[in-house]
Parts: sequence; C-alpha cells; structure tokens
Amino acid sequence: MFSDTQSRPSAGMRDAMARAEVGDEQAGSDPATNALCARVADLLGMEDAVFMPSGTMCNLVAILVQTRPGDEIVVDGTSHIFNTEAAGAAAIAGVATLPLATRDGVFSAAQAEAAIRPAARTAPRPALISIENTTAFSGGSIWPLGTVREVRDVARRHGLKAHMDGARLLNAVAATGISAANYAAGFDSAWIDLSKGLGCPVGAVLCGTRAFIVEAWRWKYRLGGAMRQSGVLAAAGLYALDHHVAQLKVDNDNAAALDRGLRAIEGVKFEAATQSNILRFTVEGLNATAAAFVEACERRGVRFRATGAHEVRATTHLDVDAAGITRAIDVAGEVAAAFRRGGAGGSSPAA
Ligand SMILES: *Cc1c(COP(=O)(O)O)cnc(C)c1O
Repeated sequence: MFSDTQSRPSAGMRDAMARAEVGDEQAGSDPATNALCARVADLLGMEDAVFMPSGTMCNLVAILVQTRPGDEIVVDGTSHIFNTEAAGAAAIAGVATLPLATRDGVFSAAQAEAAIRPAARTAPRPALISIENTTAFSGGSIWPLGTVREVRDVARRHGLKAHMDGARLLNAVAATGISAANYAAGFDSAWIDLSKGLGCPVGAVLCGTRAFIVEAWRWKYRLGGAMRQSGVLAAAGLYALDHHVAQLKVDNDNAAALDRGLRAIEGVKFEAATQSNILRFTVEGLNATAAAFVEACERRGVRFRATGAHEVRATTHLDVDAAGITRAIDVAGEVAAAFRRGGAGGSSPAA
C-alpha cells in the first residue's frame, strides 16, 4: 500500500481495453480517446480536453502554454511540480518556480498574494499559480473550496493563470461531495490522473478552454506525447470512470480505518488528520528510522514507504481491501512493539 500508482488494471478494465474501438489519436479520429476527453472535460466543467501519457506531462504542458521563458510560477513547496518532475518547468519551459512554505500543502490567498512580485524590469514576471488538490507529498490534504476560490481570484486579479494539479481531485470529490467542476470552476487549466486511484495502467486528461487545448496539443506533439491507437488506453480511462470512481470513497474510508489503527499504536504519531487516501506518520517515538520500520514491515509482507528520516507514508487504492488494512495495522503494531523492546523490528529472516 505504499502508493496508489501500484494499482493494477482490473480484469474488467483489461477486457474493456481489449475491446476498444480505435482510430488515430493524432488525426483526431480515435473514438475512445475522443469520448474520454469529452467525458473528463464535462466532469471538470471545462470546454475541452486532451489525453496525455502522464500527469507530469499535463503539468508541463499547462506551464508551457501559459508562460514564457523567464516567467515565474507560484506553487506549494511540497508540490509534485517542485519536487518530482525533474525540474521540467525549468529545463523545458524555462520558468523559475517560487515554492511557498506550507504545513499541509495548502497555502492561503494572502500567501499567494504576497508571493506575486510587483512589475519590475529586474524581476521575473509572475505568470501562473498552481495548486494541488488533493496534495500528494504533504499527506493527501483537501483544499477547502473557499481557499481554492480565493487563490484563483488572486491569480485573476493579478493577471496570472490558475492551474489545478488534480491528480487525485476525484479523491477530494469522494471525501467532500463537492463536484470536480465546482473545484475547477474558473481555473484556466486542470487535470486528473487515470493511473492513481482510478487504476489505469497509464494516462491523464488535461482540460481547459478550446484555445488552450489547441496550444496544449501543439506541445503534446512536440514533446512526443501524441499517440496513434490510444483508444486501447482511453478505454481503460472510460472503464475507470464508470466502475472505479465509487472505489475512491472506499479508499478514503480504508485510509481512515488505517489511520485509526495506526494512531492507537504507542510511538506512532500523526501530525495531521488523514483527509483522503494518503497517510503520513512518524516513527520517531519508536526510536526507529523510517527506513528500518518500513523494512521490518516489508519482511512481514506489508509495504509502507519511507519519505523522511522518521516519516512514513501509506496510500490506499483499489488493490488494498479491508483485510489488507487489518493486516497492515497488525504488522505495524508487531513491528512497533519490537522497536519499543529495543529490537531491530523483530525477527529478521535469519533470526
Ligand atoms: C502522480 C502525480 C503527478 C504526476 O502524475 P504521473 O501520471 O505519475 O506523471 C502529478 N501531481 C501529483 C499531485 C501527483 O500525485
């Protein structure tokens, strides 16, 4: 359960992929891809959409379309754009990234406003504000709708574009009941990932105005992201939207159950409430490093991820069921007890 990127295509999804009606995506004649784009544009309340190989390419293309080299983009300091896209924004779009310090990945309108530089010949031109809903590395936080709107309005007031990295937007929707279109209203660009909780092998869908998508297509093509019989992949996305969206609520509930179980373990500490399908906790109270804790759990068949010296992350997804949650809690409890006794996480394979 260390990441929802580990989700595997279900049997039904593989079947839908095998039966996909296909054409040529580049020529605009792949029926499943066109249907997927129309469906996601509608879901997010946007005019148009383009199918992308990855969420990373959605972020990069949104930045490429809406900035010029030398511009600056404002993001949260724990964001995917800032930390794990190999500085694509700098390397390919030529923009500077201004990371805001946050506790949980959610910044305020006041923070955004203060980060926008006044026009000056000597300063980079602020061009875009990006928010991540839900947040990834800060623990699956859900942006309050009011804050989403306020930050968007700050961008508008200053003539900046507003971008939403909605890799897990549907997890926020599942948790709050607020529609995706409501969250994305007034944003210039927004996207959802198909390969996380939705369980597709690959893909993401980037949305915006018709004019934005025309330019996004040009960049997709330039970057080598244009496909041919992409309907095989798009069919997985359509299948996921039909059959896996309800699962996101289950994933959120499983995460809440895991949270309750882990919180009850002496020495395991949470700094924040678990809001969606990602949990973050520390094992410092066990005198264990995150790496040692994770390794000891893995020896017992449960995979967490070490994300800091003492910080551990867990993610629920459609391949983790209630029995898996119980097992994870039991294993974490056993390992914690072993560390509390001063052992290195209990029996090693040799012991
Ligand atoms: C996973 C993720 C991405 C990147 O998506 P890929 O499809 O893995 O390229 C971007 N932003 C967030 C918040 C993510 O969680």
